Amino acid sequence: MHHPSHLLPTAIAVLLAFGCKSAPPPMQNSAPAPSMEGVPRPFGEHPVVAGLGTASDGARPAVATLPASVLTSANSSPDPLPQAFASARQTMSAQQIGRIIDRPIPFPPERVAATRKYIAAHYAPEHQGTGDSGIEFEPRMIVLHCTEVGSLQATLNTFSGTKLPAARSEIASGGDLNVSSQFVVDQDGTIYRLMPENRMARHTIGLNLSAIGVENVASDERHLQSAQAAANAWLVRHLKERYPKIEYVIGHHEYGRFRGSGLWWEKDPRYFTHKKDPGDAFMQAVRAQVRDLRLSSNP
Ligand SMILES: [Zn+2]
Repeated sequence: MHHPSHLLPTAIAVLLAFGCKSAPPPMQNSAPAPSMEGVPRPFGEHPVVAGLGTASDGARPAVATLPASVLTSANSSPDPLPQAFASARQTMSAQQIGRIIDRPIPFPPERVAATRKYIAAHYAPEHQGTGDSGIEFEPRMIVLHCTEVGSLQATLNTFSGTKLPAARSEIASGGDLNVSSQFVVDQDGTIYRLMPENRMARHTIGLNLSAIGVENVASDERHLQSAQAAANAWLVRHLKERYPKIEYVIGHHEYGRFRGSGLWWEKDPRYFTHKKDPGDAFMQAVRAQVRDLRLSSNP
């Protein structure tokens, strides 16, 4: 996330810079979480609430489905998870797996116009948005983030305005379109879709017309959870099914690798900020669960 830590005194900002920690490993004598093994798969066809869908089918509330085989492979990865996320599959309830809840942020015409303006200012004429609105794109990549804001509601509040708050001085030179992401995953692994998946969100410099952004609610006090890693893995798998041209999944802290690549369309070479979210441990946990998709982390 382009987090608002500059709003805070420096000492707190320094703490927040390390806000997206992994949850500590479970205590040895704690009661084991209920295993997914014992939970019957509730659906032969897995329901996904898909009201927002893509920008072109956004007006059509629908229930999409994923074949059971997708879930089966998601849950049968033999790869060991890093310690902090070892209970990932056990902590997602059967209800949470396979659900996307639409929680659209306001997208008035002014926000469409501001997005078009951002695209025109930052990306070359040959790399522009598509669709009637001029702000759609074909996803090639997924970028995972950590909000460094401790609640879902605070995250939604941050994203809901059209204009970037004046205090966001570190990215103000990039224009006044507010930041957002297509998805937010709450601490319990619940997945919220904030805007159509193929409509541009301002979440990662250089890659906004290549990448779908997924924010994870976490802060210094509320660490990233194994349920979030599992939900991210499920979402990556779902999006790869939906957009076969997705070839990459990266953490925001890894995005600099793509400078100069064919997916990096930012015109201003000086427009770049260093990021630490969501961190290596979280990326390892997610990648371990989607290894079979052979998504790359490098250009
Ligand atoms: Zn980020």
